Amino acid sequence: MRQKIVAGNWKLNLLQKEARTLTKALVKHTIENAPNAEVVLCVPHLYLEKGNNWTYGSSIKISAQDCSQHSSGAFTGEVAARQISSVGATYVLIGHSERREYFKEDATLLTAKIKQALESGLTPILCCGESLEVRKKETHVEFVSGQLTQVFGNLDNTEIASLVIAYEPIWAIGTGETATPEQAQSMHQAIRNVVQVSTTEKIANEIRILYGGSVKPNTAPELFGQSDIDGGLVGGASLNVDDFCKIIDAA
Ligand code: PEP
Repeated sequence: MRQKIVAGNWKLNLLQKEARTLTKALVKHTIENAPNAEVVLCVPHLYLEKGNNWTYGSSIKISAQDCSQHSSGAFTGEVAARQISSVGATYVLIGHSERREYFKEDATLLTAKIKQALESGLTPILCCGESLEVRKKETHVEFVSGQLTQVFGNLDNTEIASLVIAYEPIWAIGTGETATPEQAQSMHQAIRNVVQVSTTEKIANEIRILYGGSVKPNTAPELFGQSDIDGGLVGGASLNVDDFCKIIDAA
């Protein structure tokens, strides 16, 4: 039985006071309602330590949105996975489509980041997903499988088993357009198959695969009800306490 995850990706949003107010409301909700899902907040680096303090006494976990491929040294502006871990965070997003697109992050770089994360005791949430152009050409399964196998090629089975995967079709991120439950389920099944071919049936059955792309309170229940969807990575709706609580409760 895979425990679902509902992860909120704040991206480059919220000032400190707003972040604290939102987190405190989520802490209250999760303590009062004991959700089935593991709740994760992917916060800007600046709030990693504060987030860990604000969520004290609750089961909410804190995640970074990225980490450096280096462990230390002369890399001005970078934040190392071991620094993220040292302030109490337990997850890190790797290869979000915005990082792939705007910061030109490729499979070699993402693999190095995953290794840093794992060596530091963080769970990487590896993001993948196709553009609208790829979806229209109906080559999305091959495309996403390729994104994963390029990374898996340099990881061993134990490392792959330690990942959470987030499937996020780029055409659905921040657009209000969600993949249908059938489209999402079919891709999640294909992703689980890629994991099985790369590792073992046991690892494929146990790995958690999240769906991301305009998840809202009204779409979450049906998406999370699909057999290969193990929760969601939520952007916009995670900034609204009522919406995010409803999504948490749908898992
Ligand atoms: C995301 O940021 O990963 C995301 C899925 O955003 P949104 O929910 O706003 O589409």
